[in-house]
Amino acid sequence: MHPTSTVLKYFSIFQHVPTPCLILGTDAPVYTILDVNEAYLRATNSTRESLVGNSVFAVFPANPGDQVSRNIELTVESFEQAIRTGKPHVMSNYRYDIPVPGTNGFEERYWTTTNTPICNEDGTTGYLLHSPSDVTQLNLMAQREKISQSIIQRHQDQLVQTLMQAPVGIVILEGPDYIVELINPPLCKLYDKTVDEILGKPIFSVLDLTADQGFQALLDRVRITGEPYRGYGAPATLVRGGIVETIYINFSYEAYRDREGEITGVIAVVTEVTDLIEAKIKSEIAEERARLAISAAGLGIFDVSLDTGFLVSSPQFDKIFGFDKPRPYIEYVKAIHPDDLSIRNEAHRLAIVNGLLFYEARLVLKDNSLRWIRVEGKVLYNDEQKAVRLLGTVIDITKDRKAVEDQRKLITLVDNSVDLMSILDLNGVNIYLNEAGRNMLGFQSEEDVHRTPISSLHAPDDFERVSTVVLPTVMDQGRWSGIMMVRHLVTGEIFPVMNNCIRIDDPVSGLPIAVGAVMRDLRPELAAKKALADSEQLLRNITTAAPTALWMTNEKMSMTYINQTWMKWTNSAYEQNLGGGWLHFLHVDDRQRVIEKFSTTPTGSDFYDIEFRIIHADGEVHWCTASGQPQFDTNGAFIGYIGACVDITEQKSLQQQKDDFIGIASHELKTPVTSIKGYAQLLEQLLVDKGDLKEAGMMQRMNKQIDRLTNLIGDLLDVTKINAGKLQFNESVFDFNPMVRELVEELQRTTLKHLLVEIYEETGYVYADKERIGQVITNLISNAIKYSPGSEKIIIRTYQDGVNVVMSVQDFGIGIARDKQAHVFEQFYRVSGNMQHSFPGLGLGLYISSEIVQREMGSIWVKSEEGKGSTFSFQLPILD
Ligand code: ADP
Repeated sequence: MHPTSTVLKYFSIFQHVPTPCLILGTDAPVYTILDVNEAYLRATNSTRESLVGNSVFAVFPANPGDQVSRNIELTVESFEQAIRTGKPHVMSNYRYDIPVPGTNGFEERYWTTTNTPICNEDGTTGYLLHSPSDVTQLNLMAQREKISQSIIQRHQDQLVQTLMQAPVGIVILEGPDYIVELINPPLCKLYDKTVDEILGKPIFSVLDLTADQGFQALLDRVRITGEPYRGYGAPATLVRGGIVETIYINFSYEAYRDREGEITGVIAVVTEVTDLIEAKIKSEIAEERARLAISAAGLGIFDVSLDTGFLVSSPQFDKIFGFDKPRPYIEYVKAIHPDDLSIRNEAHRLAIVNGLLFYEARLVLKDNSLRWIRVEGKVLYNDEQKAVRLLGTVIDITKDRKAVEDQRKLITLVDNSVDLMSILDLNGVNIYLNEAGRNMLGFQSEEDVHRTPISSLHAPDDFERVSTVVLPTVMDQGRWSGIMMVRHLVTGEIFPVMNNCIRIDDPVSGLPIAVGAVMRDLRPELAAKKALADSEQLLRNITTAAPTALWMTNEKMSMTYINQTWMKWTNSAYEQNLGGGWLHFLHVDDRQRVIEKFSTTPTGSDFYDIEFRIIHADGEVHWCTASGQPQFDTNGAFIGYIGACVDITEQKSLQQQKDDFIGIASHELKTPVTSIKGYAQLLEQLLVDKGDLKEAGMMQRMNKQIDRLTNLIGDLLDVTKINAGKLQFNESVFDFNPMVRELVEELQRTTLKHLLVEIYEETGYVYADKERIGQVITNLISNAIKYSPGSEKIIIRTYQDGVNVVMSVQDFGIGIARDKQAHVFEQFYRVSGNMQHSFPGLGLGLYISSEIVQREMGSIWVKSEEGKGSTFSFQLPILD
């Protein structure tokens, strides 16, 4: 072939096209390489020289290592097909390894080759244009992809397998409705559902959860945030096999993403840990119980290494020893009471030998208080039988000890009781009897107590009662009490006791186990009662025998007691006199007065004498005077009077005799004294006339004494009249002030020393006995003069006070003590005192004055201060 320019051009193109090309002769089966371009040489690592002129198959033999490709065969077929059909034939992606220059080795290559027949002018195929393109890289990639795809597939399969076979429950939930995409059998089992029941459905619509238990919210959170969530030991209540069950689960929720990393759901891994949790709860409960038991028992726990002396103690242990935190072993030992240390040491010595520790000892706490402890423990030995550890407990038994102590005291108390105390077992045997009981019944020894049948301790009738009444009642109602007759074993004396029986029950079973009895010897009490009754009788006798009637009222002055004397006087029954009954026996004229006195509200002050007459059984009238003393309860409230009523008939008659005597005597005296007075006045006048002035003076003094005597006799007569109720009054209307003025003028003449100062205010008229009122005024002014020897002024006042006219006489004399003031208006009353003798008188003037004023419907009173003077006043109603 000669290169022409066109040919050259094509040649050049052929040489430089990037597609590898080989021009082959059609000399099958050799297929000689006629030409080759650059690209081909590059693609096959060959040189023009090594190729051109050689058979293609000689240059590119099959790789002996490649048993599979049949590449020579395929190539030959392709060549043949191209030549036969005259059309290009494409061999796709087949392996044809190329030799590595300088080695015997081959390089694996893949090719897609077009074998294009180039026709001669006669239409036969002259050449083959063999243009392979190296698709090794593509092929490798495809291969790899294939491999990786299969690996992924395998992995996926494995994953699903794993998920399906995993011993934990796994579920993949898609979308917001949590459609079950995949669920493995363990989880189905946990849910008690088949895969079909659950797969492809929203999980919460399938599960029989008894309520919203918060799982959906957790899922939502994981699905939205992508943050995983793990739950441990969470309770879940669901219905399994028709039964509501609470199970405990550990679970983890993880966001489930698609290839793009978008969250499409949640993958949940669930394991049931019910057994574990229940076991844990049980062990916690057991632990807690043990802890509670220990702390409730107040037990302190210790564990001491016998080699090192290292102690591990519980807080309660420290607390019992009075420590607020653990201390070295020796400190605990030091806390033991020095006197009890030997007990502790001995117990420890024994423990090493027999393995068990037990002792009770006292501790001395920081504040020097004592505490009793009980220590119990166990020794642990090593393989060589050497004691290595001591474990144990300590308990505060101070209270128990105290209880024992208290019990001891109680026993002492029972032993020393003056009452009999006994315990009878249900067979009727006395199992305990205190000393007082042994003495009371005459037991000689304790054995005696157990031996003696109780029948011998009772009077026969009473023993009958013990078995028929007492014991059945005690058994039935728990107690019986009453008086019984018991018998002294030695003397045989039968005497009464107050017996209190109680049933004693077993504190645990509540069944009766014994009967307790407390008996009080009633003899001393009866003796005391008798003594009391005797003394009561004596008192009764005394009150009965007393000549005085004794009485008692309640706070309403109603009679609640009256003694025999009164009943004897009135020959009445006790009941007849109670309340107001006693008034019946009073003289009808005195009854109203007495009722009035008794019906004034009791003030609780002394009940003053009131005189009245009573009619005795024989119809005789007797005078009595009653007086009483107020009684108060513990709160100070008035509860009534206790009083006496004395028969004063005798005194009354004596007084009458005296009155009669005074009446007669004064009457008899009055006439001679009047005539003496007449003669004396006459004699005085004669002596004056004669000029015998000295004698006349003596006669004048005598006249004055006669005046006094006349006045005394007048007073006595008046008193007699008053007592006999015969004082006469001649009432008239008179102007009060002029009468006073007249009298004052007259009295002023009788004294040189005193000045009678008169202060008159408008008074008006009164209707009364002028003479008698004059007597009152004279008496008051005379007293004022008499009882104020050391002063000069006496003030006389008259004035109106409402409907009354008042007259008062004020002196500045000796005055009257407060407690005596009320008495000055009494008959014959005179204030006693040192100066008594210097003031002559009978104590009648004020009595008569007061009688007069009262009879004239007025009143009289005194205001006085001892040593400073007195003001006596009286008032009378003004006549209008
Ligand atoms: P007498 O005759 O004793 O004066 P009265 O009845 O007039 O009797 O008075 C009774 C008693 O009252 C007197 O004994 C006196 O102790 C006392 N008495 C009366 N008036 C006065 C007075 N003005 N000042 C002090 N004591 C008085």
